[in-house]
Amino acid sequence: MDLKELGEFGLIERIKEAVGGAPEGVLGIGDDCAVLPQAGGMETLVTTDMLVEGSHFLRDDIPARLLGWKSAAVNFSDIAAMGGRPVGSFLSLGLPRGLDTEWMDGFTAGYRECSDYCGAPLLGGDTTTSQAGICINVTVLGECASGRSRKRSDAVPGDLVCVTGPLGDSGGGLQVILKGVERDAAAGALVARHYRPVPRVREGMALAATPGVHSMMDISDGIASDLRHILKASGTGAEIRTADIPLSAELRQVCARQGWDALDLALTGGEDYELLFTMAPGTEPTVTYYVIGRITEGRDLVWVGSDRDYLGFRHF
Ligand code: ADP
Ligand code: MG
Repeated sequence: MDLKELGEFGLIERIKEAVGGAPEGVLGIGDDCAVLPQAGGMETLVTTDMLVEGSHFLRDDIPARLLGWKSAAVNFSDIAAMGGRPVGSFLSLGLPRGLDTEWMDGFTAGYRECSDYCGAPLLGGDTTTSQAGICINVTVLGECASGRSRKRSDAVPGDLVCVTGPLGDSGGGLQVILKGVERDAAAGALVARHYRPVPRVREGMALAATPGVHSMMDISDGIASDLRHILKASGTGAEIRTADIPLSAELRQVCARQGWDALDLALTGGEDYELLFTMAPGTEPTVTYYVIGRITEGRDLVWVGSDRDYLGFRHF
């Protein structure tokens, strides 16, 4: 069978079945990070993500410095998604011929900038040549007080579904890049959101310190896909009010001009790296957030205000 038929998540399931589950007390495959209990009332969080030239970025378009930032940021975002504090990172690079020291220095400057922002130094890695394109793998370690990390599996019916910021900017930015749209202020802002996502580490830690916050993850594939992970892991459904999805002025402006569907980009575009979380009504987190719907009994995801269904980004 072609791997395409399994899809990304079917493939991960197949690997999980073949290799076996995590030991008792350890959270393994299936959430934003693995969670390993430590002595002294702490948990270690581990996450890893790969960026491949051609699949995740175009070498000729993204400045090396921003690629360095983004490679770190998408990984720190998974620590944020559990509510953890980043501790350190490991960077492995497969580099093809044709790159120069200027590119490398730009990349490492951007990587460092994001690492400093998240308060976690680079602690190791690996460097090799690549016969194909640039291949970047980052692993980040984080920590959290025992029992504090927020999983995908703890949403309960009645919870409010919330996000920490506007959605769709990154997806809009990708369209600007791919379609060669002129980069005026608004279009340029979307491209910046695509190339320089800000990991919501501070917000994640604040949300994990708020008792009514139940489940959490980061939005990497678009909430149409990512929310389904929370629903599946929690055994619940959800109703999302499409009119309440936060959209930036820049996205509205560029979409109006180009004839693009802003809502579709917001739900399916991916790579916004905002946090998606659910909380008991009456909870008052100390971060900026937008309520977009609620968790329901049953298993359905209903888009209130739209007569179509939405699917997120698929890697296969
Ligand atoms: P995220 O978008 O948060 O990085 P992914 O969708 O990439 O999460 O992965 C979902 C889960 O599957 C994570 O727990 C991740 O560690 C795990 N996973 C992904 N690919 C593999 C693999 N090749 N082997 C083992 N686990 C994997
Ligand atoms: Mg994630």
